[in-house]
Amino acid sequence: MSFSNLGLSTEIVRAVSEKGYRHPTPVQAQAIPVILEGRDIMAGAQTGTGKTAGFTLPLLHRLSTQPHSVSSKKPPVRALILTPTRELAAQIGESVTLYGKYLSLKSAVIFGGVNINPQIKKLNRGVDILIATPGRLLDLVNQQAVSLSRVETLVLDEADRMLDMGFIRDIRKIIALLPDKGRGGRQNLLFSATFSDQIRQLASGLLHDPAYVEVARRNTTVETVTQTIHPVDRTRKAELLAWLIGSNNWSQVLVFTRTKHGANKLTTVLEKSGIKAAAIHGNKSQGARTRALADFKKGSISVLVATDIAARGLDIDQLPHVINYELPNVPEDYVHRIGRTGRAGHAGEAISLVCVDERDFLRGIERLIKREIPRVVIEGFEPDPTIKAEPVFKKRQPQRPSRAKTGKSGNQNKNRARNNNRSQSTAANRGPSSRGNQKKANGNQSSRRAA
Ligand code: AMP
Repeated sequence: MSFSNLGLSTEIVRAVSEKGYRHPTPVQAQAIPVILEGRDIMAGAQTGTGKTAGFTLPLLHRLSTQPHSVSSKKPPVRALILTPTRELAAQIGESVTLYGKYLSLKSAVIFGGVNINPQIKKLNRGVDILIATPGRLLDLVNQQAVSLSRVETLVLDEADRMLDMGFIRDIRKIIALLPDKGRGGRQNLLFSATFSDQIRQLASGLLHDPAYVEVARRNTTVETVTQTIHPVDRTRKAELLAWLIGSNNWSQVLVFTRTKHGANKLTTVLEKSGIKAAAIHGNKSQGARTRALADFKKGSISVLVATDIAARGLDIDQLPHVINYELPNVPEDYVHRIGRTGRAGHAGEAISLVCVDERDFLRGIERLIKREIPRVVIEGFEPDPTIKAEPVFKKRQPQRPSRAKTGKSGNQNKNRARNNNRSQSTAANRGPSSRGNQKKANGNQSSRRAA
């Protein structure tokens, strides 16, 4: 199977070949012909499967072969791609530019956290393809900087994460601004790594007779990723992490923490141990996030410490190691996190440092992925069996009965924001200490033994 067999134009096939893609990935082979036909799709594709090109290539083909009917020089927005994060929006924007380099379509990327005026200027000149995060898009619509009345194709990328992030109302508002759906009308493409009831509900109101594309089993982890658990005491995680990075000479590691504060603290600890690291999370300015990602990609820092939301959609070629410094409390996030490695068929390694407090999280993850992750205790970092589990989250303040009745807190983000990751802070405060133990553990992978 080649890209030209899929029915894509020569300009697109040329751009893709120059990028070095030889064959379509499974999601591309399945989705491209269906999208070219104009059908709606619901695709269960994990990150790293090549899904971005899976929807971008046929989208570019359709837009370039079916010119718009507006006579003015300023093209209307004909394709709208909604994504949960700024990073993902920027990456999709890069893909659209790259795959469309031999076409004359215009695109723009818009997201919050940066000055809105350059975005307004760009939109004023007219764009065919708009890649946006929901909040900023609504701001721009409200300021009448953009009209969505001519959108022919809507893409919801990483729809599950957009819902997790509380964007459902914004998404519904945006959909209400679009022209009619249905065959012959607007085409809708929904991509999601996981399928909750809420996603199905969204899909049933949005998609018209969709084709289902599913390339990896739902809620399972990519086959090319080796997964390991290192049991360790909560206070020794930072030390173990520094040891793993140093003794294995890893030069590109993505590390996940549960909180922004935890990400900052861990970054400081790693830097103090001589490991070049940067944190990437929602409290960092867009400039700092872009810089950290660029430094990580070019190798001037070896560790990027990220929270789930910031790391969503990061596309770093052949990222070899992902480390869960803390397990996520939402099991699906584990699948997303480890999907950062093992991309497009490359081998990857996902390691989780798990302390006694996180046993329930681990159980939830293993139930979701339907497999047990091998435990490997590192010599010198054996967990102390006398340490008792403590709650990871701060106890909630007792609520007054009247509030408790009405104070619905279904939003995961709100819950997450309340999280107080005591275990992480403790580990980070101590940093890589007890050199004696570190020495004892020093050596290589052979010092690992199965628990
Ligand atoms: P995605 O799942 O869209 O984030 O893509 C994951 C990675 O796979 C990106 O680095 C793409 O550049 C790469 N990729 C996409 N399609 C192909 C292909 N057909 N052959 C090789 N690599 C690809």
